[in-house]
Amino acid sequence: MQHRNIAFIGAGNMAGAIVAGLVEGGYPAGLISVCAPSASHRDALAERYGVHSSSDNAACAASADVVVLAVKPQLMAEVCGALRSQVDFSGKLVLSIAAGVTVERFCALLGEQLNIVRIMPNTPSLVGKGMSGLYAPAYVSQQDRDFTAALMESVGKICWVDDEHGINQVIAAAGSAPAYFFLFMEAMQQEMERQGFPADKARLLVQQAASGAAALVEASPEVSLGTLRERVTSKGGTTAEALNVMNEQKLPEIVARAMQAAIARAQDME
Ligand code: NAD
Repeated sequence: MQHRNIAFIGAGNMAGAIVAGLVEGGYPAGLISVCAPSASHRDALAERYGVHSSSDNAACAASADVVVLAVKPQLMAEVCGALRSQVDFSGKLVLSIAAGVTVERFCALLGEQLNIVRIMPNTPSLVGKGMSGLYAPAYVSQQDRDFTAALMESVGKICWVDDEHGINQVIAAAGSAPAYFFLFMEAMQQEMERQGFPADKARLLVQQAASGAAALVEASPEVSLGTLRERVTSKGGTTAEALNVMNEQKLPEIVARAMQAAIARAQDME
């Protein structure tokens, strides 16, 4: 991966996960700055990973080649407004991980033809198992696309989308998805506890079944998800009985409606 000066504006969970992935993957910590108003988050990152820490967004952004905007979407206008008055963004690569803030909006906030890539990561990035969607306008160079891809591959896998709406679809399939699986696992754990299992054993069973199922999916790229399901579903057996209940209750339709609601919400935020 090419080495450039990177400034993270915002030093929260997501910025921290990316910093960890970069430094643990061998990226020089001295080329990374993390900026946030309160010292606690950024100083913890500085101490743990040896990156620079600052409360001065503009000074960090001005001296960086790559500016990662990692604040909450509702703060983006204020943060960008303050940056624009002090930083010349021409020649810089800007990366945003915020939901609902479009390229058009960033161009209005930071300058026309802004060299920007939108990234939609998810929380498994915290353990190197992230899934990030990436979108760049056509004028962004291959070199900048490659840099961004390598950056996000330091915390997981990536998927480019061809049009910006794809970012909202990625939110439904990956950004928000860990919570769907947590809900499913939570419901399973609760039922095991109702059946008399202690919480720790109930959690272990569910957790290992989920991670084992995900590992099987990963290990069998040529096998469809439907076939994997059929392989554990003997006719007239216990799994068939359980899946019958889920299908009768229209679980696939519920999942589809939930994902559509996530996409609609992402569109509303724009
Ligand atoms: P977070 O609340 O953990 O971190 C936000 C950071 O911004 C904090 O360090 C805070 O101190 C800092 N900050 C606040 N005001 C600031 C300012 N004026 N200047 C500089 N820094 C400032 O949030 P997070 O979970 O890391 O999310 C960051 C962004 O990533 C958000 O836009 C969010 O939508 C996006 N995102 C999060 C997830 C997720 O699952 N957590 C997934 C995808 C995208």
